[in-house]
Amino acid sequence: MNKKKLLYLLAVILLVALTFTFAGCEIFESILNDLDFEGILDGDGEGNTPPEGPTYYPVITEDALSIHFLELGNKYTGDCTLIKIGDVEVLIDAGSRKNSAGTIVPYVENYCTDGKLDYVIATHAHQDHIAGFVGTKDAPGVLESFQIGTIIEFARTDATSSIYNEYVTERDAAVSRGAVCYTALECYNNTGNARRSYQLAEGVTMSVLYNYYYEHDASNENDYSVCVLISQGTNHYLFTGDLEHDGEEKLIENNPLPKVKLFKGGHHGSYTANTAALMAVIQPEIVCVCCCCGSPEYTADPANMFPSQEFVNNVMPYTRQIYVTTLGIIDPDDPESWSYQSMNGNILVQSHGAEVTVTCSNNDTPLPDTAWFKANRIEPANAKPKS
Ligand SMILES: [Zn+2]
Repeated sequence: MNKKKLLYLLAVILLVALTFTFAGCEIFESILNDLDFEGILDGDGEGNTPPEGPTYYPVITEDALSIHFLELGNKYTGDCTLIKIGDVEVLIDAGSRKNSAGTIVPYVENYCTDGKLDYVIATHAHQDHIAGFVGTKDAPGVLESFQIGTIIEFARTDATSSIYNEYVTERDAAVSRGAVCYTALECYNNTGNARRSYQLAEGVTMSVLYNYYYEHDASNENDYSVCVLISQGTNHYLFTGDLEHDGEEKLIENNPLPKVKLFKGGHHGSYTANTAALMAVIQPEIVCVCCCCGSPEYTADPANMFPSQEFVNNVMPYTRQIYVTTLGIIDPDDPESWSYQSMNGNILVQSHGAEVTVTCSNNDTPLPDTAWFKANRIEPANAKPKS
């Protein structure tokens, strides 16, 4: 409390004393009624005043590079990342189910004010990455809802699923309306009009990295993932889809990877990705994971539930700034029918090229400081010390 406030409070006490002394005197009563007690006690209202403007969508600086990791409106793990600088938007994936389109499209509309999504990247042909591109009758998909510029998609797939076929139909429809579509391999090779590197804004590039499995058979669909690096000056941001151990090993072999400001946690924080070898090369400062934390969706083994103990072991030597979109709420009597709530919520990373900030729609607590982590994960002995 500063001197001015102290004097104000003393004046109030004096008035109260005078009021009691002159009980019944209407003048003093009216003065007391006009005083703002809450204001003086709460720091002139700073602590209790509701924030102005939208609370769900964090306010961004117009000219910053912003990277949003979206919650997807259901309890299933999936990826969707919106990247924006100036009037240019990139959407990497649109999981996790078709009805996620009802969450993704309004969110993206909030930022994509010209109605044109300049770049859409489909990393691989799994439902939790492409279902929101398709949507439902009630919630039209991303590809139908925006004017689409360039689609960059996986070069190979073994998928035969109905969601994959529906994605192809929606993609072809977008192309018939004027979008162009290239595979990641065509981009990497600069085939025709496809480009290995796209300039998103002055000093900001998006480069398609080389993944060996763009042109070789993989035993796991995840290894076909499109990998991209966004760079703004010396700040780098790495996205590897659901690449697995094999893919990460080949990625290191074939690309001069820099240390990165941000890494989208590989394969939702799976133990089958995020190798110690990749982390040693990229040494991430911030890691964002799109998943329903601790849900039994893919495994009954608590250590392997996203984000896995192995992920924690490999990432925490480099950073404690780990953020997770969604939290699974598990009923011990019926774990199969879990529900969900926000963990960090929508995660927004933004920068003008130097300092990078993280703001989340629910809270800004990093994973290692959460109750879930303390109950379910063990901090590795070589974890980066808390600063
Ligand atoms: Zn996935």
